[in-house]
Amino acid sequence: MPFDPTTLDRTIPRSPGVYLMKDSQGEIIYVGKAANLRSRVGQYFGATSDTRYFINLLGDILDTIDVLITSNEKEALILENDLIKRHQPRFNVELKDDKSFLHLRIDERSEWPRIEIVRRPKRDGAKYFGPYHSASKIRQTVKVVERYFNLRNCDDLSFKNRSRPCLQYQIKRCPGPCVLPINRDEYGEQVDQVVLFLKGRRDELARSLKAKMRESSEQMQYEQAARYRDQLIAVEDSLQSQGVVDLKELDRDVFGLYREGSFLQITILMMRRGRMTGSQGFDFSRQGVPDEHVLSTVANLFYSGGHSIPDEVLMPVEPDGLEALMEHFTDIRGKRVRIKVPKRGTNKRLLDLAQTNAEHSFFQARQDEARRNGVLARLKRTLHLANMPHHIECFDISLFQGASPVGSKVAFVGGVPARSGYRRYKIKEVSGTDDYAMMREVLMRRLRRGLDEGDLPDLIVVDGGKGQLNVALAVLKDLEITGVDLVGLAKARVIDGLTDGDDGVLRSSERVFIPGARDAIRLKPHTDELFLMTRLRDEAHRFAITFHRKQRRTTHFRSSLSDIPGVGPARQRNLLRHFGSLKRLRESEADAIAAVDGIGPELAATIFDYLGRTSK
Ligand code: SF4
Repeated sequence: MPFDPTTLDRTIPRSPGVYLMKDSQGEIIYVGKAANLRSRVGQYFGATSDTRYFINLLGDILDTIDVLITSNEKEALILENDLIKRHQPRFNVELKDDKSFLHLRIDERSEWPRIEIVRRPKRDGAKYFGPYHSASKIRQTVKVVERYFNLRNCDDLSFKNRSRPCLQYQIKRCPGPCVLPINRDEYGEQVDQVVLFLKGRRDELARSLKAKMRESSEQMQYEQAARYRDQLIAVEDSLQSQGVVDLKELDRDVFGLYREGSFLQITILMMRRGRMTGSQGFDFSRQGVPDEHVLSTVANLFYSGGHSIPDEVLMPVEPDGLEALMEHFTDIRGKRVRIKVPKRGTNKRLLDLAQTNAEHSFFQARQDEARRNGVLARLKRTLHLANMPHHIECFDISLFQGASPVGSKVAFVGGVPARSGYRRYKIKEVSGTDDYAMMREVLMRRLRRGLDEGDLPDLIVVDGGKGQLNVALAVLKDLEITGVDLVGLAKARVIDGLTDGDDGVLRSSERVFIPGARDAIRLKPHTDELFLMTRLRDEAHRFAITFHRKQRRTTHFRSSLSDIPGVGPARQRNLLRHFGSLKRLRESEADAIAAVDGIGPELAATIFDYLGRTSK
């Protein structure tokens, strides 16, 4: 039954807190926070156009609204962040973990810090820099750091186990703290310089390097002076490659927002000490909530997720819960953070720049989407589908060395992978290697569940020819599912005796089998449709293979430890989780093994001895 707004006065208090909108199945579809819950929730059912739009999106789905009362708005912010991450409600903004962004991490608390490339910043006390959009940009930065600042670049495990310095030491890129008695203050000084460099405070760094160069030269330490000179040149080179936009030397993030209806784009420009050091974009659809609310949630998720918080955050409109946000970010950062809505001057120009970037990215995203929709429309026509294949699922069965069968399902929504829809199915009901029976089991399990949850794809692609297609057809028939398209995708056939010049064989194009047709449809080479279909199948194979690899590693790991008295399945699991591989476990000292959950010094010594004996 749709939600009845006339009950608001009775059910929603005027306290600060978090509200959870749910559908009739009890699924949380939206989470929001408010200083005054009743007034905020009431806005959705008022006359303002923005929020009415949101309610239109929810349509008949909204069934109930639950609330969680907090003692203040800042607590509500923290709770909102946790709940969005935990439930990923479909109408909330989701800051996807975009794998294309990389960060650099440096942990100054470590005895001998180093820089590492990581995907995702964590709130672990280390410093993170980035995001870097391209692997080449981050490699270039790491190269400069490795070349001109003498930090180690080995991982902790190798560091602990070295008996003499590695090549980095020979080529004078690391002082060799792994084994040599290195002055910690000098090493720390290098770390500070790297941090300044990565923070973008390159003017400051250049000044300090110049002073040091002069000092070393006056003291006739010419080798040291030459090193400072090289560092200075590298820093100045990197200074020239950056555009100066903001002349006031504060660290700022500038949020740009562009919206058309429920589609919106947020672009964050990172300015460090007056220079633009990076940007990050988020593209959202189905966002009918007002801009001030979206900005507040995005900023909360962004900074609570570990991104470094600057002195100032510039926004196009005042975000919802401004004071609570500033207080929360100040707490996380340990230093004052301000959020401003600039109206004029340099800050306004920066904001305009972020707005222009957001607008540009918005249209770029729409163009990409239009191109993908064009591909889907052509695929629909070519394969004679009844539906626009917006949500496609591809199924594959794979075996490892003729055993361990597993089914994999990958999902593409709007022509791009939707990883939340990927699943693996361990085959439970079929013994032996009957490919058809296994495909039937996997499809049955997936589609039965889909029927229960009202979640079926527009198009099912099974990896294989007519045999697999007929199995899938029978499953649809048995479950009385109609309105879902189905095709079989068979690999290109190699034609003997002919060559096409590239690799010496001639392949026929991929063949798509459709129900009721005798002959397969051949997708034209070099078309987006062919690319999409082969990508689907390759992704399903890849997904299955990674599973087999992981299983193989786990089995090998466990069987290597199973003869050690006292190391049962639970301890094997803990060791695997901790070390990740048998190689790493073998390379570890007994102390490191003892630190693993449930092991302790005595058992660690036994494991250490056993692995030492078996590795010989
Ligand atoms: S010399 Fe030692 S500390 Fe430096 S990178 Fe090599 S192993 Fe690591």
